[in-house]
Amino acid sequence: MMREPYAVPRPGLPERVTVYEVGPRDGLQNEAAIVPVEVKAELIGRLARAGLTTIEATSLVHPKWVPQLADAEQLLGVMPRQDGVRYPVLVPNERGLDRALALGVTDIAIFGSATETFAQRNLNRSVAGSMEMFAPVVARARQEGMRVRGYLSMCYGDPWEGPTPIERTVAVGRDLLDLGCDELSLGDTIGVATPGHVAALLDAFAARDVGPGRLAVHFHDTYGQALANTLAALQRGITVVDAATGGLGGCPFAESATGNLATEDLVWMLHGLGVQTGVDLAALVETGAWMAARLGRPSPSRVVQALSGK
Ligand code: MG
Repeated sequence: MMREPYAVPRPGLPERVTVYEVGPRDGLQNEAAIVPVEVKAELIGRLARAGLTTIEATSLVHPKWVPQLADAEQLLGVMPRQDGVRYPVLVPNERGLDRALALGVTDIAIFGSATETFAQRNLNRSVAGSMEMFAPVVARARQEGMRVRGYLSMCYGDPWEGPTPIERTVAVGRDLLDLGCDELSLGDTIGVATPGHVAALLDAFAARDVGPGRLAVHFHDTYGQALANTLAALQRGITVVDAATGGLGGCPFAESATGNLATEDLVWMLHGLGVQTGVDLAALVETGAWMAARLGRPSPSRVVQALSGK
């Protein structure tokens, strides 16, 4: 059986891509099962040993909203840390930032919405109101020397408003960057993007002076488009791609077990394109299969299925 793809490099693609692992946070947050803290700590350790250099660990939102991550402080106390690996933590507001600072966190992420309906539902405020909430968080985090990532969700469409106008996504994304975020991750929260839409959005950002070096992409495989969308983004110069090991995280807005792009599927494609990731695919597949067993269900990742069958 093939354990690695044939590498056939093509011009016009980045030499190296940073895989931003979101499984422990975005993945587990959207799984029905609540995973014990020791399992989360082991997952994070395995991911670092597999060569992932950015592993979003957890979220300091109020436990009432995300019971799956209610053990965030405990996890940050017990999880293994490897030199050269970043472990960002999602922070919703100033209270969350206070907790992050007290816990010695050095990298945070904030989570905004491109659409009004999702801002109301997820943040209980308007898009403008959420910017007002984030402004002091980002300013203080920067003063403290933290690295700040901005997430923008519903960049291509949302379940209530339909397609998100490209100009709107660019305008809200620019506002998040203007607050002082180091990087903006463009989320396809419901998996509706297709490759032309991705190219058009990235072109629109570039036309407003936001080049690919400040952007990351975050795709969901709900409709099977995540890898095609990723390739479109790579062709536009994107070098940071979000993914979750084993495809963790079902889609909260669709009756689908397929949520985040699986890190294993992403790494298979990147290595096939001759793009370096620093990731040991075999160790990663083992991790995806191990985690699926902890959750008691098969991984939706095609690469995990192909390489871990009996
Ligand atoms: Mg996601």
